[in-house]
Amino acid sequence: MSYLDLTISQMHLALVEGMVTPADLVKEAIAVSKGNKCNIFEATDFENALKQAESITKVDEKDTLLGIPFLVKDNYSTAGVETTASSNILNGYVPTFDAEVVARLKSKGAIMLAKTTMDELAMGGTGTSGHKGATLNPFDQTRIIGGSSSGSCAGVAEGIAPFALGSDTGDSVRKPAGYGGVYGFKPTWSRISRFGLFPFAPSLDAVGYFARSVEDIALLTEILAGHDEKDMSSSYRPVEDYLGMLKNDSHAKKVGYFPSVIKAIPDKKIIASFDKCLAGLKEKGYEIVSYDFPEDLLNALYPTYMIISCSEATSNDANLDGVKFGLKPDQNAKTWEAYMSDARTRGFSSLIKRRFIIGSFSLLAENQAELFRRAQKARRLIYEAMEKFFASCDYLLLPCAKGKPPFIKDISDRWDPNPNFVDNHLGLANLGGYPSLTCPLGYEDGLPYGINITGRQFEEGKVFQIGKDIENLTGLVNATVSKHGEGI
Ligand code: GLN
Repeated sequence: MSYLDLTISQMHLALVEGMVTPADLVKEAIAVSKGNKCNIFEATDFENALKQAESITKVDEKDTLLGIPFLVKDNYSTAGVETTASSNILNGYVPTFDAEVVARLKSKGAIMLAKTTMDELAMGGTGTSGHKGATLNPFDQTRIIGGSSSGSCAGVAEGIAPFALGSDTGDSVRKPAGYGGVYGFKPTWSRISRFGLFPFAPSLDAVGYFARSVEDIALLTEILAGHDEKDMSSSYRPVEDYLGMLKNDSHAKKVGYFPSVIKAIPDKKIIASFDKCLAGLKEKGYEIVSYDFPEDLLNALYPTYMIISCSEATSNDANLDGVKFGLKPDQNAKTWEAYMSDARTRGFSSLIKRRFIIGSFSLLAENQAELFRRAQKARRLIYEAMEKFFASCDYLLLPCAKGKPPFIKDISDRWDPNPNFVDNHLGLANLGGYPSLTCPLGYEDGLPYGINITGRQFEEGKVFQIGKDIENLTGLVNATVSKHGEGI
């Protein structure tokens, strides 16, 4: 049996009881990582990880994360470890400090093993746009694991580590979690400090993470949430006792779903599981509501998200110019414009350049009212419609994706000419800043699919409560590629 295949809480117990040592865990993780073929790693820090593990002689019951290995998406600053966000423009950049979430995990004694591959600068949802090429789905290496937090998801699904940090601007944790058969969570906007997380679109960005049980997600949220004076946007609200809440039954029992999204899903197996899940929840005392969310607003989701996120990205990433960090441009360039153009021409892929063009075009003074401001107004309408939904329902429940993870050969980095809201509905949680959790639901031809729960702002505790009820229905706790049940 592999100890790496345990959840954080189970692994912790094994450490407390002395059945395994942190060094055993890290050695095993290194061995599994070295044999891995899914292109999960940007940079590894195995030597330091092992040194740290070997220095731990005893794990007490209160040290919940001491000696537990984890992975970090490559858009978090990590002191002394190269951090590129899978972009050539940041090749060679070694931060001098840890992102707040990395620091919090390390201060609890968790051991960072490696940085993981991602879609370049977190833009994209396929895990194919990073400078090291596609991250493969461990369940079928000809398919995507999804993105942008690709390597982190694949690493948890593979059983390399029980948890991993990702980031979520539109669905980048919750969509891959569905394709990888693991739990993936983004909290309320501002709930967790983003200090040291490379911004993509700060009005949408959230720290997120993958784990293999709802309990582990709740535990991580307790550790990571809370104000940080280094991030002005982080909330002062007290952090709730999420683990304690999990022991109690939820009093919020009204679940809504959007029939228009369900109708747009062609995969019968996914729909059957979704229906079974609703029926199971009903038996547990939940009330299920079919809610007609305005379809024009669902259709507005993708353009609104794209215009806002690309506009924010083009402005944030203006600092990637080859002057301060990363790739060194042509030293013979005659003008500073030529110097920066060289860095940006060679440093970014075509996907990133296209998004910057969309962003810059939307922000141009003559276009701003028609594009950027209009997108902000559409966002307000979407938010108000979601608030109306939450006035009558406690949760929104929807399948994560419309089918199996696509084949890598079918992926294009081109703008989708016919976007369908069924591919983008998880972005509702970012436009409204809501907490949102993906749970594994079942398997089709050996490929996992998931269900997503979105709750009201700052109601992460309730989201975990219904998540736990769903986990009890599916029995999918601690599922990895080599070891999982059937789900429902
Ligand atoms: N798929 C979305 C995009 O391409 C989400 C990205 C994210 O959440 N970082 O922008």
